[in-house]
Amino acid sequence: MCFSGCTGESAVLPQGPRAAYNHAIVFGQPRGSLDRASGKPTPMRIYCDHNATTPMEPRVRSAMEPWLSAAANASSLHAEGRAARRALEDAREDVAALFAAEPRDVVFTSGATEANNMAMGGEGPTAASGIEHPSVLEPLRRKQRLRTLATGRDGVVCLADLEVALKEGCRAAAVMATNNETGVRQPWRSAAALCAAQGARLHVDAVQEAGKGELCCAAFPGFTMAISGHKLGGPQGIGALWIAPETRIPPLLLGGAQERMRRAGTENIAAAVGLGVACRIARVEREERTLRLEQREALFLVAARAAAQDLQIHGTQQPGGRAPGTLSLRVPGLLAETLVIACDLEGLALSVGSACSSGAARPSHVLDTMGLAAGVVVESLRVSLSASTPEAEATRAGEIFGRMVNRMRGQR
Ligand code: PMP
Repeated sequence: MCFSGCTGESAVLPQGPRAAYNHAIVFGQPRGSLDRASGKPTPMRIYCDHNATTPMEPRVRSAMEPWLSAAANASSLHAEGRAARRALEDAREDVAALFAAEPRDVVFTSGATEANNMAMGGEGPTAASGIEHPSVLEPLRRKQRLRTLATGRDGVVCLADLEVALKEGCRAAAVMATNNETGVRQPWRSAAALCAAQGARLHVDAVQEAGKGELCCAAFPGFTMAISGHKLGGPQGIGALWIAPETRIPPLLLGGAQERMRRAGTENIAAAVGLGVACRIARVEREERTLRLEQREALFLVAARAAAQDLQIHGTQQPGGRAPGTLSLRVPGLLAETLVIACDLEGLALSVGSACSSGAARPSHVLDTMGLAAGVVVESLRVSLSASTPEAEATRAGEIFGRMVNRMRGQR
């Protein structure tokens, strides 16, 4: 069966495991709206896994559209190249504005994984807690450079431990802004002050805070911050690393002189434009989004608790201690994986821990680091909402969740 350059055959629905993908190529429909096996549109679903990835904002998509098929190399001198350069630099301004930083200090990357890996470059021990994302921890572990910081049961990294590490000569640290599994906000501003006082580098993975909280901070040499496009309504495969002035970060990719010699490779103009627009929307609409997220979270919880009164929320219970919309939940006695599958079959998409760990069916390293018992960890799942989740959907998601809890408990 041929789907490239098809003429008459394109009217025939493709079959097989690649059916939905091929169907999208032929008919130009987004993959997400198609059932993978049948190639037919899926029934109404409620997506509550926004910390894994967000759907693309329609305004982002419109801005990207012209660049998807353009001959756009920002390093070319001709008019097409100059137009691409302008678009790239406009996008850089929008990304920089999210950090209240200078555009020249923003480097486009293939995502936050690359940005985090890049920020972990260099020599010597780096202090980080076990709740950090694997893209922070793994590069350090590989080179045996991880100096582990303790984390409390409330999911907050221990700053006293960071102080000790710095006093003992540690010259670099990583403290994420918000944890992707629990939504617990970390004291990264205080960590920045401690690191600055000791002349140490600090990296902040701000992926899950972008669009939810304030990211501006007084820059000091040694400060870096990462974000990812697909966590804030932008495209996948693009991210950015803000590198404070006078900070030297060794490049990961060597080659051309793109990105002021900090990241070689032809820039992805369409994706950068998408990230720029997503950042602008996130900045301008942040307060409104926060209110909506808080309200959606409350609606979900009220509906879920009506059935599951013993529902537990992991992480700090301090007001403002968690970014709104992220809930790490436990229903005592119920295996999270089974509950997530039951919800999925009812049209509700949730997740067991983070996408990275759930894909590998590994128990959450974050909850484990927080000191939760293995039996509690396997009963824990994540609900992550979006400001664009309609009110009725947030309530309905809570109702489906509650219904599945009742069903698993044999209460129907
Ligand atoms: N950091 C955090 C906190 C994340 O949630 C993620 C995505 N799971 C990443 C980094 C990696 O981002 P990307 O998918 O853009 O590589």
